[in-house]
Amino acid sequence: MIIKMQTVATAGEIAAVEARVRDLGYTTGKMIGEQVTLIGVYGDISRLPVDEIGQMPGVERLIPISRAYKRVAQKGDPLKPIRVTVDIGGVTAGGADLVVIAGPCSVESESQIMDAARVVKEAGAQCLRGGVVKYRSSPYSGWEGLGSSDQDSLRRGLELIVRAGREFELPTVVEILDQADLPLYEDAGVACLQIGEPNSKNQALLNRLRETPLPVIHKRGNSLDTEAYLLWVERMLTGGKENVILCERGITSCNRYTRNTLDLGSVAAFHYQLSGLPVAIDASHGTGIRDLVFPLTLAGITAGASVVLVEAHPNPLVAKSDGMQGLFPEQLQGLVRAARETWLARVRTDREYVPSIALQRAYEARMQADRARFFGEG
Ligand code: PEP
Ligand code: MN
Repeated sequence: MIIKMQTVATAGEIAAVEARVRDLGYTTGKMIGEQVTLIGVYGDISRLPVDEIGQMPGVERLIPISRAYKRVAQKGDPLKPIRVTVDIGGVTAGGADLVVIAGPCSVESESQIMDAARVVKEAGAQCLRGGVVKYRSSPYSGWEGLGSSDQDSLRRGLELIVRAGREFELPTVVEILDQADLPLYEDAGVACLQIGEPNSKNQALLNRLRETPLPVIHKRGNSLDTEAYLLWVERMLTGGKENVILCERGITSCNRYTRNTLDLGSVAAFHYQLSGLPVAIDASHGTGIRDLVFPLTLAGITAGASVVLVEAHPNPLVAKSDGMQGLFPEQLQGLVRAARETWLARVRTDREYVPSIALQRAYEARMQADRARFFGEG
């Protein structure tokens, strides 16, 4: 925590704040600038009486410096952060290789999901996706997924996608909507769960998923601020769970042309600054437009994603949901090839990435040496 003093704070006020904080058992450090003084407070700041300190004479404000999402936050040397890898049924996400998860928006029938699995395998993707229960914005859409009527239908739907995945050696990724259904997903042999956008802030569901050994892809809610989203992801990790993948699938903006607005700035922030968890890019829901999925997926990889989530259908023209954004098989093949090229380019170009922290200290030392030389300051 940093305590920023007002520009008019007196030396006595500054000393009083330091003394009070030390009395409370903290060590302090001080930075005296030309205009303001900053007092650093070291130790477990969760016990710091922030209201009391904030109201002391001369205090302007308290600035927290550690992140509220401690487990999601990036760890290790900032020049070489620790990268978490997540195992999806034998496929490693966040490691040396790009992971492509592809498949239809929803599992529609046994033959459709078998065909889809073949298409996904032939394209070179490593995992099969497909929703068995669908979250629909209208109650009149007429289609909520094969598994929407009861637990038996859900069990049968899960079996279909798991069987198709096994046939083609593709671990499966399936969205879960209700925490009560978790045992069904686990027993069916699903390799990875997906939290859909509408459930991004579903407290009961996220709490329940703390207990599952299955990895989870947690999609960012479309009106969740970058770091507010990470705090929701943190919820699943509080009991020690680590195998979670972040996912950017577009946020709400003034833009109406695309279904959502893919927030690539946040993708870069997640990967380069805020977190060590793998980041997935979902340009299907991010754009809602089939022909924009290709460029935006590649842009997402360039920005920092190491996992691609993409909708593809044996024939998207007859898809029961999200047909407008589902790729044709030929398009999926081209996308997977291009995505792998882009990934290799990023791995190469990342060697040129220099975080400011690598330079800042040297420049500060240089400034100090100049001041000493010209003004005799030390
Ligand atoms: C989906 O993955 O099919 C889906 C509905 O995604 P989202 O929750 O991101 O809208
Ligand atoms: Mn969909």
